[in-house]
Amino acid sequence: MKRVVIAGGGVVGISCALALQAEGHSVTVLEPGPIGEGASWASCGCIAVGEIVPLSQPGMLMKVPGWLLDPEAPLSLRPASALGLLPWFARFTANSMPSRMRAIAADLARLTFAATADFKAQLADIETPELLVERPVIKLFDDERDKAVMGAAFDLARELGCTIDDISGREAHEMEPAIATDFKFAAVLRDWSFVSDPKRLVKKLMQAFVQRGGTVLPLACKGFQRDGARVTGVETADGQLLPADEVVIAAGTHSKPLAKNLGIKLRLEGVMGYSTGLQDPGLDLKHTVFYPAGGFGVTPYENELAVAGTVEFASLAAAPKWRRADVLVKRAHRVLPGLQDRHHSRRMGRRPFTPDTRPIIGRTVNLANVSLATGHGQLGLTLGATTGRIIADVIAGRPLSEEIRAFSPDRF
Ligand SMILES: Cc1cc2nc3c(=O)[nH]c(=O)nc-3n(C[C@H](O)[C@H](O)[C@H](O)COP(=O)(O)OP(=O)(O)OC[C@H]3O[C@@H](n4cnc5c(N)ncnc54)[C@H](O)[C@@H]3O)c2cc1C
Repeated sequence: MKRVVIAGGGVVGISCALALQAEGHSVTVLEPGPIGEGASWASCGCIAVGEIVPLSQPGMLMKVPGWLLDPEAPLSLRPASALGLLPWFARFTANSMPSRMRAIAADLARLTFAATADFKAQLADIETPELLVERPVIKLFDDERDKAVMGAAFDLARELGCTIDDISGREAHEMEPAIATDFKFAAVLRDWSFVSDPKRLVKKLMQAFVQRGGTVLPLACKGFQRDGARVTGVETADGQLLPADEVVIAAGTHSKPLAKNLGIKLRLEGVMGYSTGLQDPGLDLKHTVFYPAGGFGVTPYENELAVAGTVEFASLAAAPKWRRADVLVKRAHRVLPGLQDRHHSRRMGRRPFTPDTRPIIGRTVNLANVSLATGHGQLGLTLGATTGRIIADVIAGRPLSEEIRAFSPDRF
């Protein structure tokens, strides 16, 4: 049995905690924020098995210059943060080469294709199977040009094994009568599903962990005590030193400064996104519906309809711009003409993005007992359970498949 300290109790950190606890370790999670209110709370809630083609796909990049001039565009870059983000952005765009896109998509597919089974096993373990809603996702396109932007990404995803059916806008309306009648094209992403309440998910995972003897401290990790190539203790914000045989850094976007503290340079930026929960939406929706031209998705959660999306590059210190959340709700009327948006609540999340869209999972060569579990970008909810399983293998010293090495923290 090892004493494991995990920095971060978001969906990834708590999934690692449960998986390590199941191996018999004594696990402590440091989580300074309200439980369940990490980035996954602002997410679209999808188990996005087919979301394997990086955002740096050429079709998207071509649109970026126009988007940057439009304050209401689905993608924006805060001028004050631009300079600091340039090196990350340069690496990100370098990954738009077809060979790199294909390699990244194939690597991600190896993880996402395991995600549904891993997630179901996790939900069975905490006896909450109803949190997974096994219904495909619908993507909507205004016209041929709009659909073409996704064309290459869909082709690549299909080639790698994803099931995507092209349907007409009319057929999408028949599947979901709340959808407007005038979309020309749509696609049904058959491998996807969604979580009926991401906040409840994280809380349930945390509850199970605590009931089984795990410790959660409402404190931030501030630093580490080292003895050569080993970390021997974790320093908390209130000055405690927690002895540790193993440390897992799973603090989402905040993993970057924590890793830096240990001399590990992560190429990681927090890409902001917003979600508005509509409490009385005035319509019944059964599937998650994405409108890529608007940069958002709408998911029917248990107690609200969530309109979530946008990609906003900004520094970790940048405050939310709630206007961007309001723009999404305004645009959602295009998709769902009967939508009522009187009663709502808003949240912001920072997706921890690497320039190659691959998450960071595993040990770093220079430290014997530190693992990283971060950088999941728009796949953190999807890959929480899978990441927990892999981190348990890492800490047990079980041999990792060659594929997992693609996610090594040392690749930067
Ligand atoms: C608009 C939007 C839509 C999305 N849609 C999807 C989707 O459909 N499907 C999907 O899979 N993903 C989606 N995502 C991405 C997903 O939400 C993230 O990838 C995921 O939440 C990351 O989980 P995490 O646990 O790594 O980070 P977080 O959820 O951010 O958790 C990190 C935790 O670390 C804590 N922390 C911070 N600093 C410290 C410290 N010093 N010490 C200890 N703890 C610390 C924080 O309080 C936080 O709770 C979306 C994200 C957004 C914003």
